[in-house]
Amino acid sequence: MKRILVTGGAGFIGSHLCKRLLEEGNDVICLDNFFTGSKDNIREMIGNNHFELVRHDITKEYFAEVDQIYNLACPASPPHYQYNAIKTIKTSVLGVIHMLGLAKRCKATILQASTSEIYGDPQVHPQVESYWGNVNPIGVRSCYDEGKRCAETLMMDYHRQNKIDTRIVRIFNTYGPNMDMNDGRVVSNFIVQALQNKDITIYGDGSQTRSFCYVSDLIDGLIKMMNNPQKFIGPVNIGNPAERSILDFAKLIIEMTNSNSKIIYKPLPGDDPAQRKPDISLAKKELNWEPKVDIKEGLQKTIEYFDKKIKENN
Ligand code: NAD
Ligand code: UDP
Repeated sequence: MKRILVTGGAGFIGSHLCKRLLEEGNDVICLDNFFTGSKDNIREMIGNNHFELVRHDITKEYFAEVDQIYNLACPASPPHYQYNAIKTIKTSVLGVIHMLGLAKRCKATILQASTSEIYGDPQVHPQVESYWGNVNPIGVRSCYDEGKRCAETLMMDYHRQNKIDTRIVRIFNTYGPNMDMNDGRVVSNFIVQALQNKDITIYGDGSQTRSFCYVSDLIDGLIKMMNNPQKFIGPVNIGNPAERSILDFAKLIIEMTNSNSKIIYKPLPGDDPAQRKPDISLAKKELNWEPKVDIKEGLQKTIEYFDKKIKENN
């Protein structure tokens, strides 16, 4: 049994990770400041002797005895991370320094939830880990993109200077149950709009592309990366390479929900990447990982989740 800290454990990805780690027989500390996370996501675990919930903000130091740290704390949707841009960058920089300090004291392995956003608006397609990216350092997305890039730098410097056992995973767009209904990301927006027969809001002309990974596949990748015996430290892309345009995605959601919604077009937000698709050759080679869940299967589960949430709220 390992003692594992999951920061951002009450969020979308964190809640799935806590559940899986508990099922695999570990002791889990779920740390969260509840900015975008929710107790609903972890309610079923509260009361389990092997689960501890800590309300804390990683921009402040935290002390515990742990063997592994998954550092997921950080708002992930553009409206949420832009709501308080300075806080977002503090979470990625100060927060990671505090977690690396904890890893150093405990001799723990630390995995950083990095992002495809570190490639910015990519000029190399699909994105390979060796690509350094095309990021605007002064734009509206920079608090997130540059914060996450700095977090990667800190991970590598602590690894080189202090011999910390670090792992960097670059997560590409992930979706599934426990996403916040009002999160503002495309998957939750489109499904909630379609289920309520409201207009589907496409930003720009819908020609921009994304590649969507179901959350259980991502969790497999995170756990494999943390526990890989070869000490492959990354960075590694984890995502589903099935790329589609946002317009096609909107049509798929309308079809799968049997909705009467109409598509409407709104202005494209600043620095919105035109294309995104992970090259996952490295994850296949080093971790023997690839996604298994087909988009329709994953979306069906997600639609059922949001349908239930909407009915509960009415
Ligand atoms: P989320 O917003 O649902 O979860 C983030 C969690 O972190 C929330 O529970 C929030 O309350 C908590 N948090 C935020 N700031 C904190 C702080 N200062 N101290 C403590 N807790 C804090 O987002 P998510 O989709 O679950 O993303 C989890 C991680 O994965 C994030 O680091 C995100 O950048 C990364 N990521 C996610 C995606 C994706 O598609 N979901 C893609 C790339 C990277
Ligand atoms: N998007 C959209 N309508 C929405 C929400 C998002 O067209 O209601 C677009 C957004 O502009 C981006 C893509 O969908 O091009 C993915 O957006 P999301 O916020 O989910 O993630 P990210 O841009 O960080 O990949």
